[in-house]
Amino acid sequence: MRINATPAAFADAAFFVSGTGTDVGKSVATAALLRALRQAGLAAQAVKPVQTGVEDAARQGDAALYAQAVADLPAAALAPAATLHSFRLPASPHLAAAREGRCLSVAGLRRDILAHWQAETAPLSGEGAACALLLEGAGGVCVPLNEREDTLDLMAALAVPVLLVARNGLGALNAARLTLDAVRDRGLVMAGFVLVQPPETDNEGERLVLADNERTLRNWLDDLGAPLAVLPWVELDAGGWDRLAQAVRPVAQALLALLRTPAVGPDALIRRDTKVLWHPYTSTVAPLPVFVAERSRRNRLVLRGGKELIDGMSSWWAAIHGYNHPRLLAALRAQAGRMPHVMFGGLTHAPAVELAERLLEMLPRGLARVFPADSGSVSVEVAMKMALQYQQGTGQRQRTRFLTPRGGYHGDTTGAMSVCDPVNGMHGLFARFLPQQLFMERPACRFDQPFDPASLDDARRMLAAHGHEVAAVILEPVVQGAGGMWFYHPDYLRGLARLCREAGALLIFDEIATGFGRTGRLFAAEWADVTPDILCCGKALTGGVLTLAATVCTDEVAGGICRDGQAFMHGPTFMGNPLACAVALASLRLLEEENWRERVIALEDALRRGLAPCRALPGVADVRVLGGIGVVETVDPVPVARLQAFFVDQGVWIRPFARLIYLMPPYVTPEADVERLCAAVCEAVRQGLHLPA
Ligand SMILES: *Cc1c(COP(=O)(O)O)cnc(C)c1O
Repeated sequence: MRINATPAAFADAAFFVSGTGTDVGKSVATAALLRALRQAGLAAQAVKPVQTGVEDAARQGDAALYAQAVADLPAAALAPAATLHSFRLPASPHLAAAREGRCLSVAGLRRDILAHWQAETAPLSGEGAACALLLEGAGGVCVPLNEREDTLDLMAALAVPVLLVARNGLGALNAARLTLDAVRDRGLVMAGFVLVQPPETDNEGERLVLADNERTLRNWLDDLGAPLAVLPWVELDAGGWDRLAQAVRPVAQALLALLRTPAVGPDALIRRDTKVLWHPYTSTVAPLPVFVAERSRRNRLVLRGGKELIDGMSSWWAAIHGYNHPRLLAALRAQAGRMPHVMFGGLTHAPAVELAERLLEMLPRGLARVFPADSGSVSVEVAMKMALQYQQGTGQRQRTRFLTPRGGYHGDTTGAMSVCDPVNGMHGLFARFLPQQLFMERPACRFDQPFDPASLDDARRMLAAHGHEVAAVILEPVVQGAGGMWFYHPDYLRGLARLCREAGALLIFDEIATGFGRTGRLFAAEWADVTPDILCCGKALTGGVLTLAATVCTDEVAGGICRDGQAFMHGPTFMGNPLACAVALASLRLLEEENWRERVIALEDALRRGLAPCRALPGVADVRVLGGIGVVETVDPVPVARLQAFFVDQGVWIRPFARLIYLMPPYVTPEADVERLCAAVCEAVRQGLHLPA
């Protein structure tokens, strides 16, 4: 059940050695480092996770070279070398493995490396011996491990400091720059660089090139704070290894320094956090505990210290493609290189235009104009202002109020707050400040039961009484999210749309949580086949990478607002931010290509199966699942901190609130991980951890 966490000691004592290409002297550099570290008294070992081109890994290949480099030194507590996988074909790992009918994966290699570390260091742990692993990759950083993953992916998954090796000569700078950038783009720490000299030459031009390469490289590395070591060309005999170990010392010393100063632990960071920061909906006096997130990949979050969690929240509905998706990051980097931001007043750009076009193709038919906003709450403010300006523009100045069902959530800014649930929301705190809106019963008819027309009675009553003063009805279609995770019957929306039309009120759908496939339809409006006058979307719009939302309206609404030369009065500083638009565009393309519907249906099946056992347990009021949303509603409010600690201990990231323990994992979550999320929820409820403390 529990995930094997990366031991903190591993992250502090392992290094990944890679090169700017194949045949650059990487193995010699690794062997020289091994010797230097052992001479410094460390139990160091050089490990080849994947060795290609050998019949017998112990006697051929790099392991043999490593052993030779330290043959004359006293034996250390660790064997000098180890090979985890070896293949006969002298080729890139993906090809050499395929030739033998095998397939390597980052997850598998990471598991093997950690298992090796544990097996090797466990016997030493009592003795307090300092040890280090040098993990030498095959070839350069972009060498494929399989069809989808490469060495950089492995390096990012291990998240240990990186050593790069290059052979000096023509072209060395270009390869070094590209490799340094690739390592930096993955957020990896550069621990040092080893430049391997070619045989001595009398050619003056060549000597000039070598010297200049070294000087330029040293400048770059100074900027990165990483040391450079230059290895001479020597005969590989005992004297030669000593000269190499001497030459590699600047890098070896940097490794020793990293070993002695492990990364700041999570506790220290949390103490600093507690002094200066504020987290969502918390008190600074008695804050809820926080955990330090350090890295993410796919559907996993990695905490400082190495603990890995299966993500069950998609970072509040947003990270539908999981984390660090290469396509989204590539779009972000490409746009950052062109133009990160520019004002939207008087200027436009391709990312905004293409995103608006794409959105309109995906949204319910009839929506025609896109107003980019910088967050969900702002898009709700924009929608409300649109409705008000529309009513003014069409001569209905008395329509200044909004009607909304109870149990809704629309954001934390003033206008949005005024239409949140009046009891669970923040109305009590801001009573005299908030505009007074109109509330009706929440749609009572469940999604999974036959439609009951009586669920529209209160809407009909309210519109009959107040229809003349209502600018718009605003609600979350089909799923009320943060207000209670309530799934109601889509026919309610059809009836409501008719009532709005009769009353002359606009209809606003807040699809900030439901948009982009989460409910099993691209937009929840599709369940009812209703096109609202105004629609808000956000959250998953950028796949969870950056904040961006949009308010979209019909031509009729835009025309009403802009009658008689009137302008729409809103314009955030970061409106239409090109970075966010570019990522959103990439995310929408990905959504269409990756068969989201099948994935969400699979997610729904797994959630239904996995959460069903909770239904019979004490303190559970309801269990419901729709699309990629699974909800266990409890009878009483849950003790959040206690549940949270239990979930983290179980290796899952689930954050309950009020009377809700809910899951909405990224669409890319493997079935086994959905099962583990559900099992953790069931186990918490079985142990009664959801009951009042
Ligand atoms: C999250 C949410 C909002 C607010 O979006 P922010 O980006 O947090 O401002 C509004 N409406 C709904 C339905 C939401 O789920």
